[in-house]
Amino acid sequence: MTQFKYCYGPVGSWRLGASLGVDPISRPEKICDYNCVYCQLGDCLPAPPDRAVYVQPQALGAELDLLKAPADYLTFSGRGEPTLAANIKELLFECGRRRTEKTAIITNASLIYSEKLRDELSAFDFVIAKLDAPNAELFNEINRPAPGICFDEIVKGLVRFSKGLRGRLAIQTMLIDRNKAYALDFAALYSKISPDEVQLNTPLRPCPAKPLSRNEMALACLITGAELKRLGADGIRIINVYGEETPDVLPVSAPDTLKRRGKI
Ligand code: SF4
Repeated sequence: MTQFKYCYGPVGSWRLGASLGVDPISRPEKICDYNCVYCQLGDCLPAPPDRAVYVQPQALGAELDLLKAPADYLTFSGRGEPTLAANIKELLFECGRRRTEKTAIITNASLIYSEKLRDELSAFDFVIAKLDAPNAELFNEINRPAPGICFDEIVKGLVRFSKGLRGRLAIQTMLIDRNKAYALDFAALYSKISPDEVQLNTPLRPCPAKPLSRNEMALACLITGAELKRLGADGIRIINVYGEETPDVLPVSAPDTLKRRGKI
């Protein structure tokens, strides 16, 4: 099996089908400005929210030329927060020159307050943005961000981003014991942000946090759906990790996939 430096998978994803990962960070160490309590990449101090170039577009292009595996999406994700790569627009352009699949990015939304980043993200077909807390206190407790990252600015940025978006937006919430009782508060935020989809997740990959059960997730879906309806926002689709089919997909390189996802 060939080893790749910047791409991994494709993997079977419950929300993206066959997803070929593109890692714009691709470093041995995790580079992220959060240190979520459930992070599968390990526990370390959050990096400062500064952007840098980690992967040259030509090098990614050369690797994509070798990859023939078909996918539903090319998905920017990997060993850290993809928007900390300052050149995601150039990397996305390289993908578009070589592949016809739709593009997605899974982001922690830490920098979404920035108009420049919102402009870059709007070039993706599908943006999946994290929101694990309904208030600043829980945000600091669960996501443990680098100093200077502000919960209210993230919510404002998500609202602005959603308004001007041509592609699709999903808000992803990782539910654990600490935030599972806040479905009503989350629904109010989802209604304000108005994404196309809410993805309720719980940590099923190896990590320090305990996942919620099927019943707990079903209850969270039920309460969230009812509250969205009450708020007149029932056009927002809700999916949860236990309720979706995950396609069987064989990765082109298992080690590259394992080090980014924690499982094949
Ligand atoms: S945002 Fe993702 S990579 Fe960063 S700490 Fe949280 S789970 Fe880990």
